[in-house]
Amino acid sequence: MSVPLIDLSIQHQELRAEISQALNNILDRCDFILGQDVTRFEEEFAAYCGTRYAVGVDSGLSALELSLRALGVGPGDEVIVPAHTFTATAAAVTFAGATPVFVDADPVTWNIDVEKIEEAITPRTKAILPVHLYGLPADMNVILGLAEKHGLVVVEDACQAHGAVYKGQKIGSLGNAAGFSFYPTKNLGACGDAGIVTTNSTSVAEAVRAMRNCGQRVKNVHELPPFNHRLDTFQAAILRVKLNHLDEWVDSRRRLAHHYNRLLENSELTLPVEPPGYHHVYHLYVVRVKNRDALQTFLKERGIGSAIHYPQPVHLQPFYVQKGHYKGQFPVAEALCDEIISLPMYPELTEEQVEVVVAEINNMLVPAQ
Ligand SMILES: *Cc1c(COP(=O)(O)O)cnc(C)c1O
Repeated sequence: MSVPLIDLSIQHQELRAEISQALNNILDRCDFILGQDVTRFEEEFAAYCGTRYAVGVDSGLSALELSLRALGVGPGDEVIVPAHTFTATAAAVTFAGATPVFVDADPVTWNIDVEKIEEAITPRTKAILPVHLYGLPADMNVILGLAEKHGLVVVEDACQAHGAVYKGQKIGSLGNAAGFSFYPTKNLGACGDAGIVTTNSTSVAEAVRAMRNCGQRVKNVHELPPFNHRLDTFQAAILRVKLNHLDEWVDSRRRLAHHYNRLLENSELTLPVEPPGYHHVYHLYVVRVKNRDALQTFLKERGIGSAIHYPQPVHLQPFYVQKGHYKGQFPVAEALCDEIISLPMYPELTEEQVEVVVAEINNMLVPAQ
């Protein structure tokens, strides 16, 4: 039995009729740009996250960049980001004209190490951009406390964590603003690029709304940076259909992750943690193992999909090495990137498939006598 890392076709098969109907309705209405499905989806997603506002945009990267800009982050400012994340987290800071300042990963949760944030704060620091990596919330109480103490704003990178909960509160509602991605493989995925900003701040919502649409607060008055980062109406319609299923998909991911955890608990793998009060949504099921490359090759030969999220910490990407970052700067993140592997995870994966993956891992780690 081969097991893919992810299979999007199953959920589209199930939702095909409903999605087709929603798209046909748009063809009838022709409200292609910022149509009624965009407005409805924004209302529904804000309600889902428990925020006053949600503003749809064209990607997760745009959501983060516009959040930072709306909060006044720009040239000359520094923004604290984890070294261990997808490169778009830091790219959002760069696009906003500011400088990302990296902080090492926590050796246990793999999220930003909150004990190392304060030493990275300088008089130029304007914001902290924590990531809820793989679906596990960052330690927001500590982060919000540091922000308050130093007069900083907080933007959550929620791109991997739709539906995650931190101490009773949905992520996306904890910072001054949050950016979500609906890249097709995310926990809530469009059929193309899409993203959204959530916030309780009227001024942030208004600024993002203006910047996504040629900088207009008022029609034909282009006051703010005149970008086009609009959320496409077709994507919004698909997301409305899928949002109804997000909680059941998250439950399924959690059940499958717990199945992996039980079956792997006595193996030499380091498993993902879920500290008390944290509700992990397992966008990715990532484990840590010394001979990672050999394991990945072994699994591939047996038809088991896997991936590395990510093979290099962001500060070692060529773009940031050029800016003076170097190997050895963030040892926890660097070691993690050599040892992590993402195993098959998607809501429609079966427990039997999880058992096949674990059996193959055991075949490799404990060779038959
Ligand atoms: C996917 C992702 C992004 C960017 O989202 P896009 O929609 O691809 O622009 C940003 N940060 C993290 C952590 C992500 O996983």
